[in-house]
Amino acid sequence: PAALSVRDLRKTYDNGVEALKGVSLDVVPGDFYALLGPNGAGKSTLIGIISSLVNKTAGEVRVFDVDIHAERSRAMRLLGLVPQELNFNMFEKPLDILVNYAGFYGIPRAEAIVRAEAELRSAQLWDKAQMMSRTLSGGMKRRLMIARAMMTRPRLLILDEPTAGVDIEIRRGMWQTLRRINASGTTIILTTHYLEEAENLCRNLAIIDHGRIVESGPMRSLLAKL
Ligand code: ADP
Ligand code: ADP
Repeated sequence: PAALSVRDLRKTYDNGVEALKGVSLDVVPGDFYALLGPNGAGKSTLIGIISSLVNKTAGEVRVFDVDIHAERSRAMRLLGLVPQELNFNMFEKPLDILVNYAGFYGIPRAEAIVRAEAELRSAQLWDKAQMMSRTLSGGMKRRLMIARAMMTRPRLLILDEPTAGVDIEIRRGMWQTLRRINASGTTIILTTHYLEEAENLCRNLAIIDHGRIVESGPMRSLLAKL
């Protein structure tokens, strides 16, 4: 089955804004997939629905063939989410942030510590494991968000504008971490408004504008059209 299958998804907010006007897309397992579009296109709404933070108005979303509406908790166990804002406790240490997060998902402490070391190493944060998170650089904080999402070993990792507003050096460090995660078999979907980011990372992409997919396909063939 597809890692993600979205069928005719619609969302109208209470204020009448039609954020999604019938979005369909398929993401194959192992893919690195970009959802590219300007501000207000509907990217966060789509991510919000996939991760069960926003209610859909109509349509269907399946994650590895599990309907997120009918089997919400089963679907959520397959997903990792990296939200746009930094939302960890700045007064905790990276190691504790990861271990506590795993504990919240019922992962035994000994296993959580093993996983935390692996994820902190992968995000090049192992030497910062015992520092106060507040003192990490912007790029390190962002990579910590990614490491934390990986603690539950999601099959599909979703990132909402992971590099919005960060400089190119920070972006490159995050790209490296994301490539490593994808190479180890995790399907990745990210939203971005940087074409350069999609071009650098992704095999397939969809371009979204005003709540509709306006183009989709392999990165190469879309680049040839632009
Ligand atoms: P993007 O992530 O691509 O910037 P969003 O999904 O955030 O796009 O927004 C899509 C549209 O929905 C925009 O017009 C936005 O103003 C509107 N919108 C987003 N969230 C809400 C909300 N909670 N209530 C009402 N309108 C919203
Ligand atoms: P957008 O482009 O969608 O407006 P921003 O780039 O302004 O998003 O940032 C989203 C959030 O992430 C903001 O709350 C911002 O303060 C925070 N943020 C972004 N980059 C960093 C960073 N390097 N260090 C700390 N916080 C950051």
